[in-house]
Amino acid sequence: MTVETFSEKPVIVAGAGRSGLLAARLLAGEGARVTLRDDRPRADVEASLGEPIPAGIAFLRGMPGEGEVRRSALLVVSPGVPREKLPLSALSAAGVPVWGELELGFRRFQGKVAAITGTNGKSTVTTLVGGMASGSFPKVFVGGNLGTPFVAAAGATCEWGVVEVSSFQLESITSFRPRVAALLNLTEDHRDRYATKEAYFEAKMAIFRNQGPSDTAVVHADDPEVTARLGSIRARLLPFSVSRALEEGAFLSGGEMVLRRPSGEERYPRAVLKIPGLQNVENALAAIAVARSMEISPQEVLAELARFPGLPHRVEFVRSVAGVSYFNDSKGTNVGAVLAALDGFPEPVVLIAGGKDKGVDFRPLRPALGRKARAVVLLGEARDRMARELAGAAPITVSGTLAQAVRAAAEAARTGDAVVFSPACSSFDMFRNFEERGEAFRKAVEELPG
Ligand code: ADP
Repeated sequence: MTVETFSEKPVIVAGAGRSGLLAARLLAGEGARVTLRDDRPRADVEASLGEPIPAGIAFLRGMPGEGEVRRSALLVVSPGVPREKLPLSALSAAGVPVWGELELGFRRFQGKVAAITGTNGKSTVTTLVGGMASGSFPKVFVGGNLGTPFVAAAGATCEWGVVEVSSFQLESITSFRPRVAALLNLTEDHRDRYATKEAYFEAKMAIFRNQGPSDTAVVHADDPEVTARLGSIRARLLPFSVSRALEEGAFLSGGEMVLRRPSGEERYPRAVLKIPGLQNVENALAAIAVARSMEISPQEVLAELARFPGLPHRVEFVRSVAGVSYFNDSKGTNVGAVLAALDGFPEPVVLIAGGKDKGVDFRPLRPALGRKARAVVLLGEARDRMARELAGAAPITVSGTLAQAVRAAAEAARTGDAVVFSPACSSFDMFRNFEERGEAFRKAVEELPG
């Protein structure tokens, strides 16, 4: 692909978060006249970036108007900026391309791309595959929605980029074409951004849009929302399943994870995994399918499966107090993640949940709570709606702070129970991010009298 540059041309970058700043720097470095735009005042932007906006990049508050976009050669939109905030009809009438940071990163990346999306498990699978790839190739980029934004890899010569991609990023691609793309699952999330579940699912399906028959699509064969959408995929399908053997694909068979392809069959023992739960067997199967499609050796794949300790804040054991075990799942920011977490606990569970309300339906939690929950402790902006939607499924109490919620959960729990903090909501009502929220939970658990 010839690289189109924007030297001397006016370019707008909408959204001045980390990836927006990197995109602005990259384009300014190529000689473009860049204006960074954000709804926040400059001082707030610089405070949250932890650095000043570089000299040579203009800053204006608010999103650009029609006149300004008509005079621009390109608009780069950050994942945090909904497209509706942009003058879309003026942009399309003027023929101004609108690229996300992912698209810009892809156009500047010199290497092959493996991309991973899904409602849950993206970071886990990206890290797993990244570890496998780093052991196999001299130079690999691992990042995207997690860790380092993809544009940071611009210009570097890598064999592969292993990139986590979110639905927000996939909204603004034009040519993004991963050699290997994985869709882990589709469950409801982000109803504050998408009018319907379908709109969110379709945004995720864009990961396959530019693929052709020489590419690979790794898809979850047990997920009805995924299998309902396979018709639009042109890439070669490599499905994975924890529930049944597949003619071709990766599947769980007894204690073994099997990858079956026309070229042969290989087996990896489930017992090597340190990451717990069936959701992580799904993640491991997806990682095997992606990594082997990248031609990483089975030895590397096995070594990383056996080594990977899991990421913090994903059903992470914190401590046992008075015979009760406490688990931090602060990254459980939607109903699907909470169901996966609950599935891993045979013992009665006290669930702590709640946070920023994303407008999703919490009622799908009811059957699992009815089976397993000794009690539910709710907090945060979503707590009243959650209390209404979960009423009757389990005894519910409401707390003001996370520390109070932990104490309430400790009181409700009996010896042998698990207390699981899996909020089903994002953290932004009370915390800066899920990491800070997870640390607050950990601290509250450490402070329980032992
Ligand atoms: P993402 O990057 O998609 O948010 P993570 O790997 O960070 O994914 O995990 C996010 C949450 O989803 C955690 O609560 C984790 O326990 C849960 N989870 C991980 N993998 C899966 C899966 N395959 N299905 C359902 N939930 C999962």
